[in-house]
Amino acid sequence: MMNAIEKLQILGPAAADECAEDVAIGGRKLPPPRTPRDLTRCVSHAVLPGGKRIPILKTLVSSACENDCRYCAFRSGRDVRRATFSPDELARLSDELWRSGLVKGVFLSSGLVGGGVHTQDSIIATAELLRRKYHFSGYLHAKIMPGAQRAQVAETMRWANRVSLNLEAPNANRLSTLAPRKGFSSDLLQRLRWAHELATERSGSGRRPSLTTQFVVGAVGESDLELLLTSSYLYRELGLARAYFSGFGPVPGTPLEDLPPIRARREHRLYQASFLLRDYAFDVEELPFGVEGDLPLDRDPKLAWAQTNLLERPVEVNTADRRLLLRVPGIGPVTADRIVQARRKGRLTDASHLRSIGIVVQRAMPFVLLDGHQVPHQLSLWTGSKPLGGI
Ligand code: SF4
Repeated sequence: MMNAIEKLQILGPAAADECAEDVAIGGRKLPPPRTPRDLTRCVSHAVLPGGKRIPILKTLVSSACENDCRYCAFRSGRDVRRATFSPDELARLSDELWRSGLVKGVFLSSGLVGGGVHTQDSIIATAELLRRKYHFSGYLHAKIMPGAQRAQVAETMRWANRVSLNLEAPNANRLSTLAPRKGFSSDLLQRLRWAHELATERSGSGRRPSLTTQFVVGAVGESDLELLLTSSYLYRELGLARAYFSGFGPVPGTPLEDLPPIRARREHRLYQASFLLRDYAFDVEELPFGVEGDLPLDRDPKLAWAQTNLLERPVEVNTADRRLLLRVPGIGPVTADRIVQARRKGRLTDASHLRSIGIVVQRAMPFVLLDGHQVPHQLSLWTGSKPLGGI
């Protein structure tokens, strides 16, 4: 009989591939915090929506699974060590780690055991025990299972700061190859819609958890265009806080074991493009896709767009509206706002003005005018800077 720590040593690392708040802006995993050896693969650094960094316990409730997603290490029938927490066992262990200061948040996911409804009940029971019995006031991110009921989505949202459901693929066609027993609309997308409706109903009263999803990238031939079309829909229509892109890596003993892993750079470009959709008011159609529907790997998508669209028609910094300023490489949402503020005090006529408000002048320079003039090419005077102002 395994004790709770032994189970955690199986179920914590099993959650490592789940993207959560431990994935930084560019898609890189944050380095783990210092923890006792038992916990090194279970606790991650996480950045919360407000920017605060905390250690978070990531674990599955169960690594048993009756489903057979074709890429997954925990698909049924695969020879892998499995474990299952009871809700009270996991809630008690999480609370102990929280009270000892080792974690300040908990991420709960699970394999499917006894169907989506039963599995969601286990996640809800764990979350409720944490909040009500153990008075856990830390950060809680809980998964919505495929097939969960609307009332269960609502109950999960009652206890969690963030809920997520993995779409895995961008559409029904791709999902049928990746996870044949999951229905894209019926099992997955509908739950995200419910979560959005429930969050909207709650606006202004009580906890209003944010919503995220995750895609597996590169396992079934989907293009970047397909992934970003769905991401764009989720950002605009369902208020998604973030889409995560998890690059496919082959797992021995699965049907996709002979496929090559994807290049990390593809993940990175997808994150950059998804932030253009979410924060920079880009439409999917404007992104620089190649003929196969993929983004260029050698340049960030905003730079590629600007090279095509702004070199001949640079942006006048003193008059451009915020939306247009955001199109300039080196200017992000924060620095676009600073430009608008600075213009109220006087005209911006010199590269040093841009530099002083945090703009990455070297990146912006080819695409802007200051009082009708191109910014002098002073590359040799501009060294050692870090990009502060956006992608
Ligand atoms: S439902 Fe699919 S992805 Fe999730 S644990 Fe089971 S086999 Fe893996």
